[in-house]
Amino acid sequence: MRRTMVAGNWKMYGTRASVAELLSGLGQLALPDSVDVAVIPPSLFINQAIAELHGTSIAVGAQNCAVEANQGALTGEIASSQLVDAGCTLVLVGHSERRQVIGETDEVLCRKFAAAQASGLVPVLCIGETLEQREAGKTLEVVGAQLSSVIAAVGIEAFTSAVVAYEPVWAIGTGLTASPQQAQEVHAAIRSQLAKESAEVARGVRLLYGGSVKAANAVELFGMPDIDGGLIGGASLNADEFGAICRAAGN
Ligand code: PEP
Repeated sequence: MRRTMVAGNWKMYGTRASVAELLSGLGQLALPDSVDVAVIPPSLFINQAIAELHGTSIAVGAQNCAVEANQGALTGEIASSQLVDAGCTLVLVGHSERRQVIGETDEVLCRKFAAAQASGLVPVLCIGETLEQREAGKTLEVVGAQLSSVIAAVGIEAFTSAVVAYEPVWAIGTGLTASPQQAQEVHAAIRSQLAKESAEVARGVRLLYGGSVKAANAVELFGMPDIDGGLIGGASLNADEFGAICRAAGN
């Protein structure tokens, strides 16, 4: 049985004061035991989050890691082993903002995925199509190609300790959400693509949906058979809203 997961990606938001307020709100939430909850702050605030959330069930992750697992001469980057040393347990890999704005390629993100796992972090692989690709009927082809490049690089067994997040680019930060049926169609395709390599891995891997999830639409999305929780952006910056989404995932 797959455990539901809800992870809050804070993106490049927060000041010391706003983060302190958010962490204090998160620390007071009553969260369902059946859901794995994580927050993913900007790296500047990882230590603060780990210190403040100590003693709660909320895990802390990072939004990015270096292509190298070990510390070394790579100015501006953070090694996955350093994230583990700080207390992180997961890391986003291939978020569409990094693919599109930073220009992260499949090759680079495959190296990050491998580096994360080499250090013991769970990579959360983000995949998704643009609006143009969806309108051209290419959604499953695009998402399938993004996934197969990682399977080819790291092997199917690597997905026993990884999470995949389907995040349609047109739904991220736009207020537009994929309908539960649209999301389920892609999640089912992702799972069947994984099943072609290993039925066991496909059954166990958690597939999160991301893209303008709010408390108001979470129950329906999380009710779909292949949606195992959510990757939450904007709504994770409000502790009460995030708590309501986590409770929806626990239903
Ligand atoms: C995200 O950044 O991963 C995301 C899903 O953002 P939002 O929920 O704001 O669309």
